[in-house]
Amino acid sequence: MKEQLTAALMRPISDLKYISKRRASLFKKLDIETVLDLLRFFPHSYEDWTSLTSIRALEDGQEQVFMARVTAMPTIQYKGRRSILRTTLRDESGRISGVWFNQPYHQKNLLKDHVYLFRGKVQKSGRFQQVTNPTFEPLDLPEDKPIAPESFTDLFMKPIYSLTKGLTQGVVRNAVAHVVDGVADQLPETLPRSVRSQWQLCNINYAYEQIHHPQDRQAFAVAHRRLVFEELFMVQLGLRRLRQQEIDALTAPVINLSVEAIIRFKKARQALPFNLTDAQDRVLQEVLADLKRPVPMSRLVQGDVGSGKTVVAALALLACCLAGLQGAMMAPTSVLATQHYKNVATQLAGSGLNIALLTGQTGAKERRELLAGVAAGEIDILIGTHALLEDTVVFRHLGLAITDEQHRFGVRQRIRLTKDEMNRPHVMVMSATPIPRTLALILYGDLDISLIDELPAGRQEILTYTAREKDRRRIYELMEREIQAGHQCYVICPLVSAEDKETDLQSAVELAISLQEGVFSHRNVGVVYGELKEKEKQAVMQSFQDGDCDILVATTVVEVGVDNPNATFMLIENAERFGLSQLHQLRGRIGRGSARSICVLLSEVGEGIARERMRTLCHTNDGFAIAEADLELRGPGDFFGTRQHGLPEFRLANLYQDKDLLVLSRKAVDMVLAGELEVTPREWDWLEFGMEISLGVSPGHPGL
Ligand code: ADP
Ligand code: MG
Repeated sequence: MKEQLTAALMRPISDLKYISKRRASLFKKLDIETVLDLLRFFPHSYEDWTSLTSIRALEDGQEQVFMARVTAMPTIQYKGRRSILRTTLRDESGRISGVWFNQPYHQKNLLKDHVYLFRGKVQKSGRFQQVTNPTFEPLDLPEDKPIAPESFTDLFMKPIYSLTKGLTQGVVRNAVAHVVDGVADQLPETLPRSVRSQWQLCNINYAYEQIHHPQDRQAFAVAHRRLVFEELFMVQLGLRRLRQQEIDALTAPVINLSVEAIIRFKKARQALPFNLTDAQDRVLQEVLADLKRPVPMSRLVQGDVGSGKTVVAALALLACCLAGLQGAMMAPTSVLATQHYKNVATQLAGSGLNIALLTGQTGAKERRELLAGVAAGEIDILIGTHALLEDTVVFRHLGLAITDEQHRFGVRQRIRLTKDEMNRPHVMVMSATPIPRTLALILYGDLDISLIDELPAGRQEILTYTAREKDRRRIYELMEREIQAGHQCYVICPLVSAEDKETDLQSAVELAISLQEGVFSHRNVGVVYGELKEKEKQAVMQSFQDGDCDILVATTVVEVGVDNPNATFMLIENAERFGLSQLHQLRGRIGRGSARSICVLLSEVGEGIARERMRTLCHTNDGFAIAEADLELRGPGDFFGTRQHGLPEFRLANLYQDKDLLVLSRKAVDMVLAGELEVTPREWDWLEFGMEISLGVSPGHPGL
């Protein structure tokens, strides 16, 4: 039964009588190859034919739908190759003239005394009214029956599909309508009855019928709700099951501290130059609790920039090492890895642990020794870049792997830190990109989430302003004042690759030179950018960190994680060039100490989305509010840049608009997995089918 149905749905559309080979190849451009693809090719919008207006009530300048009788055979007037077709349309309330330009063939489609639905733009002047080039649909109404829109119920919304060259709306509509008619009453129900009844979701047949040909708005809403719910439900269930399979199959070392180790741990904690915030402490406890279990931890630690994630990571690594295991920490850039290395080394200075740094710059000899030390278990904590993922890096006994700024690594890689099939270290992922909870649920459905939702005491709001080119002098005066007070400044330029450099953009190097040779000739100006040699990059960063460099001109290489609490001023050139979350990340480089910090967004752009982003930034320092605003302004597709996020693509669901359904579907997943909702074995079968489809795996694939 299942095989049969699946086979019917997986049939190539070229097998269908009404789809020629040529058409099939056009459909392929739209990623439609099978009957199922066609069924799941949802309209992107609809032409609404459901609100009827009587002719008398038609309004000037609006697209409207009305029902009318053709009073006379249409006449055609030719002017050269052009033609005008005219007739008069009438209902009980009045009449309107209908005009079609260059569509002479409609003469035979518009029959005298027949009734049609018309849809088009109406023009009125005085008592005269006209509708131009309306589309129309014949209605089967007896000639003598009065036209009564109020009692007319047979209305519809016409689907509008995405097209590709060579495929018209009519062809796609027909093809979809055919498959819907053909199979829509025998589709396998992918959502268990218990789930549907709990959240009042319609059945699958109705959903597919109505999403393609909604009777009315209400029916559309019902169908849409079910399909969006299903999409969100399937993806989350799929991710959670993957995680569950991992948990069932794998074991992780139990990290339980001896009494002596606990004392050492407490000592190290007390030796820190500050007390942990309540939020840091809570998250640390959540992590330590995970480490005590024989199940591999998969935890995302989220915290806004400056919330102090590193020290939580350091203490988790310490616990792991005190239990006799090794720890690893990976960062996306060598600048950041180096900084983590220094921070962790400082924070755990009194602990007697052996901490090492491995990046692409580590020399061959040093690297060899280092790897030997790692393999022998002499090195307790290894910090580094992607270099850590190489096959030559073998730990003696890795207990905890931490990755920072995870979304820059891609979902696959987060598993790769571990080479042993059965035993996995605990994994902790840190992200400073405040991911709106809505997205986090999906993106990290297979991770537990901890939130550091508090900044260390004494931090001040960063004052943020927008400015224009004419303000540059004053901006430089402000910078000078900060430097005189013993602080340092960042100047950020948009990343411009050498080839396609646009002239109106500030390039980091040029700006640095002009500052050093001009206004700031008495100061030390440094510059870093991505293409700079790693050694030089490190040297510049170091001199900035040490306070030798007063002004650091940089591209977005400083976006993630760079920590210099003495920097209190940031000027962002061409601020319109940056995304909202990116601006927030950049701005997060200042305001890290107790002094007041200032961020200036320099831009010449007028009103628009870029201005709106800047305004949002001026109003709030709250990363989560900013992330939500970003999501709203851009839509989730753009949130991380489409490639990086590893999110499955949704056909109908919009993570911003469908937040409520996301929450409900999450609940449904919880209840199904906990056995609180009944799912029969047969239903599981189809549920699995649904998950495979939603996660984009072709059904029957062994992957799930
Ligand atoms: P992020 O979460 O952005 O990675 P960091 O871990 O880099 O933040 O911490 C930012 C700065 O705050 C660092 O200089 C760090 O030493 C400091 N810091 C961290 N926790 C606290 C705390 N509880 N009290 C005071 N300062 C702290
Ligand atoms: Mg950080």
